This record gives sequence, C-alpha cells and structure tokens, in this order.
Amino acid sequence: MNLFTETNLSPDILKAIGELGYESPTEIQKQTIPFILSDIRDLIALAQTGTGKTAAFSLPILDMIDDTSRKIQLLVLCPTRELCLQISKDIKNYSKYMDIKTTAVYGGSSIVEQMRSLKEKPQIIVGTPGRVIDLINRKALDFSAIHWLVLDEADEMLSMGFKDELETILSETPETKQTFLFSATMNKEVERISKNYLTKPHRISVGSINEVKKNITHEYYVVGYRQKKEALKRLIDANPNQYSIIFCRTRMETQEVADFLMQNGYAADALHGDLSQAQRDTVMKKFRLKNIDILVATDVAARGLDVNSLTHVIHFSLPDDPEVFVHRSGRTGRAGKDGISMALIKPEESRKLKQIKSATKIEINEKFIPTGDQIIKAQVGGVFEKLLTEHEDLFEFDDSLIPDLSNFTKEELVHQLLQFQLKDLALYYKDKHDLVEQKLSNRDDDYSRRDRGRDRDRDRGRDRDRGRDRDRGGKPRRKDENMVRFFFNLGKKDHLKKLDVLDIINKATAGGKTKKRAEIGDIEILEKFSFFEVEKSFKDNVLSNIQSMKFKGKDMRAEVAN
Ligand code: AMP
Repeated sequence: MNLFTETNLSPDILKAIGELGYESPTEIQKQTIPFILSDIRDLIALAQTGTGKTAAFSLPILDMIDDTSRKIQLLVLCPTRELCLQISKDIKNYSKYMDIKTTAVYGGSSIVEQMRSLKEKPQIIVGTPGRVIDLINRKALDFSAIHWLVLDEADEMLSMGFKDELETILSETPETKQTFLFSATMNKEVERISKNYLTKPHRISVGSINEVKKNITHEYYVVGYRQKKEALKRLIDANPNQYSIIFCRTRMETQEVADFLMQNGYAADALHGDLSQAQRDTVMKKFRLKNIDILVATDVAARGLDVNSLTHVIHFSLPDDPEVFVHRSGRTGRAGKDGISMALIKPEESRKLKQIKSATKIEINEKFIPTGDQIIKAQVGGVFEKLLTEHEDLFEFDDSLIPDLSNFTKEELVHQLLQFQLKDLALYYKDKHDLVEQKLSNRDDDYSRRDRGRDRDRDRGRDRDRGRDRDRGGKPRRKDENMVRFFFNLGKKDHLKKLDVLDIINKATAGGKTKKRAEIGDIEILEKFSFFEVEKSFKDNVLSNIQSMKFKGKDMRAEVAN
C-alpha cells in the first residue's frame, strides 16, 4: 500500500510520485506536508539534503497551487545552479499530470534565454539569488501573486554572501506570502534573517545535529601539519575501493590536496569556487559516473552534489562549526548503508575536537595512521572484496585464451596475481618509516613555540640527511650482496613511473640463460635520473639491452652505480 494516500494529496500528485517509486513519506515529509496543507504560519525546517525536503515543500504546494492562473505563485531560492536544476527537475516530475510550468533561473547561463522562457508564464520559479535579482532589475519577474517563498539551504546562501540579495527578494515579495526556510545548520546569520523576515515561524528539525546518524563510524587521527598529505595517502591506501569526499577548508588547500593525489596516481579531482562553472560540472559528472572515486572539495562546492553511495568522508581539515562536521559526515552512510568519517587532527587542535564532540555528542575514536604492512593487508582484502562483489560485471572469458597454468598450484597463482596487482604499492611502502604517532596537546597553544621549533629542527635535520644521501647517490639502504645498483638516465621529468622501470627491467632481462625472471630490488625515481637494483646475474643483460631501448622516444642508458 502506498502510505502517501493518508496525506490527502491529489490523485495527480499521488500518481506522479507513485511512478517515481515513492511509497511512504520520509520523516520531514510526514511533518511538513500536513503542516503546509493546513497552516498559514511560516516555517523553519532544519534538514539536510537527502532527507526528501524538495518533495516535503513542493508536494503540498502543488496540491494548493492555482493552475488556472498564469502568475508566479511559488519562488524557490537555492544557492547553486546544480541544486536549482535538481529542484526544478523534481518539481516537474511531481507535477507531470498537472498544468503547471516550472522555470529554473541561474547564473552562468544565458539570461536572454531565461527571459524568453519566463514569457511562457510559469507558476513556479526556482532560482539562485543573484540571477533572480538580475531578472528583477530587468523587470522580467512579476512577484505580485507570490504565495509561497522557499529559502532552500539558507545557511549556504548566506555563507556564499547572498545576504543582500535575500533581503531584497524577501522585501520585494508580497507580505502576505508564506515563507519556508530550510537549512542544514542553524547559525547566527540564519537566526537573524528568520527573526527579521519570518513571522512566528513553526520549527521542525529532521536529521539535524540532534539526530546524528548511527550508522556512521567516526575516527580521528592525530598528525602533524607536515605529515598530513602522507597520512591522507595512507588512509586512502588502507581503505581500498572507497568512493569518498575529502573536505578542505580553503580553495587553495583543496587544489593542493587534489594535485598531490593526482600526482600520486589516484583517480581524484578538486571541486571549489575558483573553478569555472563548466569545470565544476565536468568534475561532478566524473565523480557521479565514478570516473574518479575521490573528490577533494570545499564545503560550499560540495553542496551541489547529490550522491548517495559514499563509503567515506575524510575531514582533511576540521571545520570551525561543529554542525558543519555533522553535515559533512552525513554525506556518507546514506540509503541504509554504513559509512566511515575520518578526521585528520593537528596536535594543537584538541580544543576544537573537544568542542565538536561535546556539541554533537558524537563518539569519535582515536586511531593510528596505518603502517605499510597494515596497508598491504588491507589492499589484499580489497582485491578479494572487489573480486567477490563485482563478479557479475566481469566479461565472458574464453578459456582458450588462458595459457597452460598446470605447473602452478592455486595458491601460487593467487600469490602471483596479488603481487602483480599490488607491486607498486608494496614498493612504495617497502622502505618507508611509519608515521610518528602524535599526541593531542591539552592546551591549544601548547604546540606553539616549543613544538613548532622542535618540528622545524627535525625537518632541518631531515633536509641535511637528504642532502647527504643525495651526494652518495641515493637514499640510505641495506646493502644486498645479491643485487647490483644501477644509475638510470631518466627521471620524473621524463614522466617515468615505477611501473615503467619494472617494465624496462623485465624487458631488458627477459629470455636470459636460465629463463627465470630477474629479481628486482629498490627503485628510486628522482627528478632527472633514477636508481634501481637488479639481481647480480642479470647485470650484463641490463647493461647491454637497455642501451638499445627507448622510453617515450628518449634513449636509455644504465650504468652500475658505485
Ligand atoms: P532531497 O532531500 O529533496 O534532495 O531528496 C533526496 C532524494 O530522495 C531524491 O532523490 C528524491 O527523489 C528522493 N525522495 C524524496 N522523497 C522520497 C520518498 N518519500 N520516497 C523515496 N524517495 C524519496
């Protein structure tokens, strides 16, 4: 049975939402539909995206709208073009069987085109504040018959600086209208605007700060400023097959983190306000289609994105407002799935963490940055998880394509395949030290002079060591008597990757006397050149074969390094 029938909405609406598969009202719909249908008061609803709030306000309004009038009766204001398009699409779906026209107006798109569309006399306008003001100035909007005004994601519109625009629109619309304010968070600005422009509003709260989702596990990791990116890399590597958003505080930080991840070979990209609308659209599309599985974003830019299957949310930097923490974390653990929220905390941020814990009542547990071994173990688990869950998508394979493998046992094959799959990562973590465990300092300023000085000294020491190592022709290493270390004339500037080096060595050493594969040791790729280690008995093969090979059109040269 469709539980919406109890809401008394008209058959046209019930038919449309029935076709969309809506069977029962969500929590916010249960509260707002009867209220809007029967009450004339204004409304403040604390609700996040994903709670069904678009239907919550638009279904009862569609039920009451006068479809014989061709004047604007509902105006919905929202912060971004994406949300604008999403809301107008939803409303068009809900009013499929009604004689209602909905028009979306937003920046970054032809205003002339939008003015033409307004000539068709829509009863509903969904718009961003800036564009609505532009259209008011061009006298393209008649607000005289507005009956309902919805401010969607009011907190976001205010934090994006739309305060003046909102105030103008609120005062340009008829006083008799009913105003509904939806906001994920309730801060001073939102309170102020509701106090000035809403009359004795009824308040409801759904999925807000008081209702932190239970299916999200919260973890925090203490890590010094300089180690944050490396720590992030480890967290990503230790959680394979993730589909996640990494939240940063500033546009610059967002771009830096995304660049770091991309340079390290992750399918990641950045989403922030310095990008053009077209660039943002492309990134969001790539993320929705899972062409990239890690999105690094600012809070504001991520708002326009509606994805339900995030496995992780990573707070690269903590937000100032505890509610933003809840809101960010709530992007995962949707649609009945479990989610993990991980926060990187600097040692001096203990007070901020405490504040978040006490304001939100969330249990956030301390965890330690995974070691190389833990990461490899998690990756092996990840390969099997993928194998076991995605087998339906695999293509039909002709068994005759597989060479004779009868000389191998099942275990040997699994072992080889895993090594093949994970060799890059294993090489990366092979000689890496674990990240030093950091402790939260009790007082925020404890960290200040003393620890920063210590960090600086440690870094200077590290730089000195690096200089020394470079003089010796590489990083300090355990000498392996079985290996020869080679100098190789290509490096990062030639876009050389570890996988390329492995390929080159394999080619240079293939078909040797014994037909066995050469063992490969340490590989170190520096800016202009590299070093690698190969089993001693293959020394001559490397020396003679590499000279006749080319990499991206460049001649290759390998010499024995001291
Ligand atoms: P919103 O919070 O408005 O962005 O809605 C989140 C998602 O929930 C959208 O994809 C809606 O189509 C969907 N939705 C809204 N109401 C219901 C409902 N009663 N049953 C099932 N899905 C719904």
